[in-house]
Amino acid sequence: MTATEVDAVTTARELVDASKRVIDAAVVRAAIVTDGGAAIDDHQVHVERVAYLATQVRAARELVAYAERLREFRTRDEHAETAALVYTAEATHALRSAIEAAWDDFGVDEAVRELETPELRVAVRSGLDEARVRELGRRVIASNGVNNGDLEDEIAALTREAARDFARNEVAPLAQQIHREDLLVPDDLIEKFAAQGFFGASIPEEYGGTGMGYLPMVVMTEELSAASLAAAGSLHTRPEILAHALQAGGTEAQKREWLPKLASGEVLVAIGVTEPDVGSDNANLQARATPAEVDGRRGWRLNGAKAWSTFSGRADVIAMLVRTNPDPEAAGRGLSVFIVPKDPHYGHEWHQTQPEGGALTGTSNPTPGYRGMHSYTIAIDNYFVPHENLVGEDDGLDRGFALQMGGFAAGRLQTGARASGVAQASLEKACQYVNQREQFGKPIGQYQLTEYRIGEMVARVAAARQLTYAAARHFDSRGIEAPMAKLLACDVAVSVSQAAQQLHGGWGYSEEDPIARYVVDALVLPIFEGVKPILELKVIGRQLLAAAAS
Ligand SMILES: Cc1cc2nc3c(=O)[nH]c(=O)nc-3n(C[C@H](O)[C@H](O)[C@H](O)COP(=O)(O)OP(=O)(O)OC[C@H]3O[C@@H](n4cnc5c(N)ncnc54)[C@H](O)[C@@H]3O)c2cc1C
Repeated sequence: MTATEVDAVTTARELVDASKRVIDAAVVRAAIVTDGGAAIDDHQVHVERVAYLATQVRAARELVAYAERLREFRTRDEHAETAALVYTAEATHALRSAIEAAWDDFGVDEAVRELETPELRVAVRSGLDEARVRELGRRVIASNGVNNGDLEDEIAALTREAARDFARNEVAPLAQQIHREDLLVPDDLIEKFAAQGFFGASIPEEYGGTGMGYLPMVVMTEELSAASLAAAGSLHTRPEILAHALQAGGTEAQKREWLPKLASGEVLVAIGVTEPDVGSDNANLQARATPAEVDGRRGWRLNGAKAWSTFSGRADVIAMLVRTNPDPEAAGRGLSVFIVPKDPHYGHEWHQTQPEGGALTGTSNPTPGYRGMHSYTIAIDNYFVPHENLVGEDDGLDRGFALQMGGFAAGRLQTGARASGVAQASLEKACQYVNQREQFGKPIGQYQLTEYRIGEMVARVAAARQLTYAAARHFDSRGIEAPMAKLLACDVAVSVSQAAQQLHGGWGYSEEDPIARYVVDALVLPIFEGVKPILELKVIGRQLLAAAAS
């Protein structure tokens, strides 16, 4: 059989099963070397490699499983089948190359032989065969890159339709102006967004949400993010994080008080975790809360600073993680989440004073992208917060770190979807452009290299999407799937948006073209909710190695 004659799904299945056995062996070996993950910091480079490769293999498995399900239960989708083989071959090749380059570190001499059989080598070549990748690109260029993949879920399919309509009709016409003039997302758009029920996607019906479930929620996020990352696709990430913290650790009274308001958009939320001097090491936050009483009312005085608190000007509350146990040794066991109320402010600078004598002062940090919500550094000066706004009240005291991290886990799932949306928008924009731009007498989309580049993008976007959907179907705030989806999809958004920009030539560098916005928007994705190396080492790596050691 030659490289191009194989059955795509069968071959992809063989490749991904072999790759899984090899990466599993590499994880077991890394678990031994790092003492079950306890000594990750002594082997950071190797653990980062293993975590990333495990993520790619996991994405390949989800994409292959999707193609298989379509073949078995629905109509065959050749596009998905080819994408599955191309991506799986890419992941297998990356795994094989990484092991070759760091043979002793991986220490999987026996296991890797599986990838060296003549059959597997032909399978990899077949998946990466340029004719196959070009053919995938050619077909997708012809359909202008539009994603109508089977969602295997009726509610998710209806949600995609509604969110796509909203994104096209309400968000897209404003997105460029918001970006170029660095505006705040208009209240009118927020009201329409709320009327669609988008804020309540993951809040149960009994608390006023739509309780639509995680898969429809990520599909909705993907569509909104394709129109604008900051002015639509990220609006519900903040309430989502707070809603999770409340559901996990709030009192019943707090859930009844806040969840319906978050779901309806009556209360808009910002998150205040990061500080000017404390980012990834957020168990060691410095902002503090001390017990206080004002006019017989029990509460807390907050002092310190927060950084990069997105939307905190416009928001009605900031979910702030602060130190309630002054002992630095307590680290993450001394933090609590407060729902800090404030008035909405619209500018790049804002100042809020209280009758109780406290103040908050916000100053926005200029950014090249992710515009529409503004991200602020906040000075917190003796700001009074009533005790009933401490999430969990007495039971929530010093338990905030776990609650906040649980919220971030849900946020990461959404960020996998946000990134898939930005990547999809870039792909579509590139397809439209190469269809209409002519050079040397024909559309640039008809050149082999363009077809090949688009084919590569299609396979990567499909892998990121299926990994994110799989994480949504089995969402578990302590699971490894959501961080993996976030890791991979954010990288795919960065690489696909840049490849798409290059296909636009000089015109892609013009601020007038949305592709330039997608590129700068994508750059933030691997930074927040766990900057990429921290996600790889301290979330994915740690979990993989601990599981292998147990
Ligand atoms: C546009 C934007 C919006 C944001 N919105 C919010 C928000 O709404 N609320 C909020 O709380 N935060 C927000 N953030 C903050 C974001 O979550 C942090 O930037 C992120 O967590 C990283 O923290 P840091 O920037 O302090 O980087 P640092 O933690 O200082 O990390 C810098 C680099 O150091 C390296 N590094 C750090 N520790 C290690 C280690 N142990 N091992 C190896 N390498 C290491 C990493 O490579 C990392 O890339 C936002 C950030 C941006 C840019």
